[in-house]
Amino acid sequence: MDLKLVREDDPILKQVAEPWDFTVDGEAHSVVRSMAKVMMENNGIGLAGPQVGISKRIFVMGNESKLFACINPEILDGSGQIIDKEGCLSFPDLWLSVKRRETIKVRYQNAIGETIETEFTGIMARVFQHERDHLDGICFDTLTSKLSLELAKKRRKKLRKRRFG
Ligand SMILES: [Zn+2]
Repeated sequence: MDLKLVREDDPILKQVAEPWDFTVDGEAHSVVRSMAKVMMENNGIGLAGPQVGISKRIFVMGNESKLFACINPEILDGSGQIIDKEGCLSFPDLWLSVKRRETIKVRYQNAIGETIETEFTGIMARVFQHERDHLDGICFDTLTSKLSLELAKKRRKKLRKRRFG
């Protein structure tokens, strides 16, 4: 399966994704492998289905040594709040400060449909919340003030100008 990142203005990014139905869709190994490939090739630490044109409730996060495939993910509980910079593979070079829960209790299914309940904290909790949002059609540019977004877009323009001349 050869997957490609969709553009940041693709309407699929605003759609609510469908549940992954293991009885119909089968196990998710091949999608997970392809998504992980796209994520790593682009130096990301998280990638959701809609970002590669798959409107299903699935995302991957982590890196080569520890990869999580999270299907039909739910956030059961959260505590603490942290504001930190975030990027997104759908919005290259855009860095935004977003407020997230510090620690979350979650439930999801892995690639073979087993239900996992666990806790994430710090960066992995942030990535989980970011990717989970993608499945509801929520991109991180809607989670910050209009002013911060404008400033971040200006910074991106400058960065690109410097890079491409
Ligand atoms: Zn994203």
